[in-house]
Order: sequence, then structure tokens, then C-alpha cells
Amino acid sequence: MSKNLKDQVLSRRTFAIISHPDAGKTTLTEKLLLFGGAIRDAGTVKGKKTGKYATSDWMEIEKQRGISVTSSVMQFDYNGARVNILDTPGHQDFSEDTYRTLTAVDSAVMIIDSAKGIEAQTLKLFKVCRMRGIPIFTFINKLDRQGKTPLELLAELEEVMGIESYPMNWPIGMGKEFLGIYDRFNNRIEQFRVEEDERFISLNDEGEIAGAHNLKESGLYEQTLEEIMLLNEAGNEFSRERIRDGELTPVFFGSALTNFGVQTFLESYLQFAPSPQPRNSTEGEIDPLSEDFSGFIFKIQANMNPAHRDRIAFLRICSGKFERGMNVNVPRLSKQIKLAQSTQFMADDRSTVDEAVSGDIIGIYDPGTYQIGDTLTVGKNNFQYERLPQFTPELFMRVTAKNVMKQKHFHKGIGQLVQEGAIQLFKTVKTDEYLLGAVGQLQFEVFEHRMKNEYNTEVFMERLGSKITRWVEKEEINENLSSSRSLLVKDRYDKYVFLFENDFALRWFQEKNPDVALYNPMDTQ
Ligand code: GDP
Repeated sequence: MSKNLKDQVLSRRTFAIISHPDAGKTTLTEKLLLFGGAIRDAGTVKGKKTGKYATSDWMEIEKQRGISVTSSVMQFDYNGARVNILDTPGHQDFSEDTYRTLTAVDSAVMIIDSAKGIEAQTLKLFKVCRMRGIPIFTFINKLDRQGKTPLELLAELEEVMGIESYPMNWPIGMGKEFLGIYDRFNNRIEQFRVEEDERFISLNDEGEIAGAHNLKESGLYEQTLEEIMLLNEAGNEFSRERIRDGELTPVFFGSALTNFGVQTFLESYLQFAPSPQPRNSTEGEIDPLSEDFSGFIFKIQANMNPAHRDRIAFLRICSGKFERGMNVNVPRLSKQIKLAQSTQFMADDRSTVDEAVSGDIIGIYDPGTYQIGDTLTVGKNNFQYERLPQFTPELFMRVTAKNVMKQKHFHKGIGQLVQEGAIQLFKTVKTDEYLLGAVGQLQFEVFEHRMKNEYNTEVFMERLGSKITRWVEKEEINENLSSSRSLLVKDRYDKYVFLFENDFALRWFQEKNPDVALYNPMDTQ
């Protein structure tokens, strides 16, 4: 590989931010983009500022597809690194796509609101990172407000998430009394709300302020020193390797809104976050530095405008270089395709991309060819990247065609949308009813909309609510075990799956049927 291309690949840092709504993802992203010079004004990143929106509003938003696609991937340069941030939609937009985005990154940044600690959505996304061994960098936000103590927050990381942590810095006070952070890593103190030339105070070899300084008068400084001593003695050791393996998370305290600690975070992140990593394929691991282009599709964004059937497929480049107009293979289809229309994503603009390398994400025009998980290769290469993981659905709907005369369209539409990865399909045993499974409500809305617009079929959907989904280990099972509280269904590969009413029903079933081994794919992958 040419040195130039190698340097380009090694400069890439591709990550997603995982957080619960309102923890500060939009604010932090904006600040990062400002540092990178990718945007000039705050307020450019489109968050879900519209608040809770109903289905019809969502469709309106989707119609402005340019915006939603653009904010899906953001790119900026900083200190010689090229950073790609992938959006992980939450709230009403939470869907399997949110999980799948995590298959396209090399690391994740987890934002935690210091007052709230670990929240539900963060935990779900964290589990997917864990399952994939993705390195996680933690930013504990909103230190300018009173929150839980730093020690409590670290204990929560270990107890709730089961990940060890290494605080890169430590707050001095909090809320109204927030004075700054003790930066263990750079051996300095970063002061909050002071003139720029007073921002940093360097520390001596003992890790203390040398000479006189008014900060030394504060009891909070003393307390921080004591806690730092405790961390040095009883805390985890810093280990670059363990960070890379996703076993240890470096923790940064700060405040995104006041832009405090963000630059320090960014610089450490760039230093320790991995460049594009090798990926498993049918022919073993593919080196990201390999000369030959390859990549895989992790998301397909359908156009909600009925006048345009076209879609955009999101491609993660895993090796080599993409050049517009190149011919690629789609091994699943044994077919060659010319990639003539491609899009790169910037924060406030969408522009045609001519070149991109391993680690980058590009959008390619999709006339209906691709499925989620498809591999693209060049030349004689025909390998396929490993299948994307299966995500455990939590919400279910019973679905039928409104018009019985439209059965053919109905089946075709469902078949294609399921294959594409938009939604999961299950069939009840004996009665053969169709149930749709999703991780977020949005998936049902997209399904309904696309069935109508692309397959000309109106569907009737009956809400079954949330379920606990567990696959059955064995191929065979007594179908009479199915009941309303533990509904037995088959997935699209004909594997048996139980949908339990709630946790209690799951435990009750396990007690009664100890010989039926069940598993959750998100626990084992
Ligand atoms: P998202 O839902 O995770 O994207 O969160 P936002 O970035 O939209 O932030 C949610 C709210 O928290 C907004 O009102 C922000 O202004 C506020 N916020 C974000 N960061 C901070 C911070 O460091 N301190 C304080 N006090 N508020 C913050």
C-alpha cells in the first residue's frame, strides 16, 4: 500500500456517541465539530429539538431527508486526524439501525449525565459495544450542575455495566462550586471559568500545585488530592491495550455546554482511540491497510417521498480506497455494479465524494439492489464480511393485509423489507399469524409507510406491546408449550422463539421447563 494511503487510513477515527436522550450528545457533537472547524456556529447540528413528535410529524421530518441523512455521519479534521462521528438516533427514532451503527465504528464515546448516572438507552447501546469488543471512552457531562459524586458514578459503571474504569481526570467540586478538573493524564489542572491564560496550572512531580495559588486555599482542592491518592493506590491501572480491547474505559469529566474539558477529551481520545480495525470475513481477517477496496452496508435509508423510489445505502469502507465511478462486486448477488453516485456527509452540507478510504462512511445510491450486511469488493475478491448480529426485538405487532385481494403484494413487501433488515418477522406456530418485531416504534411506522408506498398494500397492525424475546437452543420443541404468556413463534430462519409477557413469565417458564434452554442473542454474540 502506498505510504500516502496508509497514512490516510491510520489517521481515521470512526466512532458513535452512545447516550440516553438529553445527556448532551448534540451539545458535545457540536463542540467537537467546532474544534474541527467543520461548523462555524453552534446550533448547526440537528438534534431532536422539535421535542416529541407524532408519527405524522416524523414523516414530515423524514421528507426533509437531506437533513436527516446529513446528520447521520459527520466528519472533521483535527491535529492531523480525520474523525467520523456516526449518529445513533434515540427517542422516537430508536431502531435496529441505531444498534447496527455500532457495527460500523471502531470505538464509542459514552456520555453520562452526572446527575442521572447510567440510563436505560445508554445501557442497551453499551451492551452492543461490549458484545463487539468496541473500545468505549466515557464523558461524564454537566459537571457545572450538582450531580452524583464522582466515586458514585465510577461505582455505577462497574456495578451496572461491569466495565472497569480509569479516570483520566477528576473534578474539583461540582455544580455551583465547580472549580475545574485535575488532569491526571496531562499532570495539570484545568480551571473552570477563568481567563484563557489562567486555564492550565501545571503540577509538580508529587501531583500538586507548585508554589502559591488561591486554588490551594480551597477545601475542594484538598478533597480532590485525597481522592486522587485513593485512585492512585486502589484504582485500576491505565492500560492502552485494555482500552483497545474494550475492557477498561477511560473516564473524562467535563461540561459540554460550557465547552469545558471537551478539547482535553478530544485530544486524549484521538491519542488512544483505534484507527480502522481488521474485520472478519469468509476469507479470514481483512486488513484495513490492504490495497483492495472493500466495505459493507450497515444502513439503508429509504426515500419517504413516493415520487422517488431511490434509497441511500450507508457503506463503511473497511479496506483500500473508494473512487467514484469504480466497479465493485456484490458477492451475495454475484454481480458487478458501478458506484457512480456517492455522497459524503458533512455537518451542514451534503457533497459528492470522489475518494474515501478505510474507516470512512459514504452514502451510495441504491436503486433497490442492496441489503443490510452486504459486502462490496473489487477485482477477484469475493469474500463476504461476517453477518451483522441479530438484535433482540422488544416490541411486537400482529400484521395483516387490509385488503385480502392484495395478499401477493403483502407477502412480497414483507419478504423484501425483512430481508433488507428494516423489521423482523415471526410466525406463530400452528396458526401461522405474522408478527413483526422491532427494537423501536419507528420501525413499525417505516414499515407501514413503505408497504403502502412501495408495495401498494395497506396493512392492519395490532399492537402486542413489549415482550421478552428468547430463542430456543434446540431445533425441536413441544409446540403445546405455547401460551398467551409465553407465546411460541418461529423466526425467519424457522428457529423457535418464545415471546414472554414479562420477566415474571420468563422465570416461571424456566422453573417449569428446566430442560428447555433459552438464549438472548444479544448476550452471546
Ligand atoms: P442529547 O439529547 O443527548 O442530544 O442532549 P442535548 O445535547 O440536546 O442536551 C440536552 C440538554 O442538556 C440541553 O438543554 C443542553 O443545553 C443541556 N446540556 C448539555 N450539556 C450540558 C452541560 O454540560 N451542562 C448543563 N448544565 N447542561 C447541559
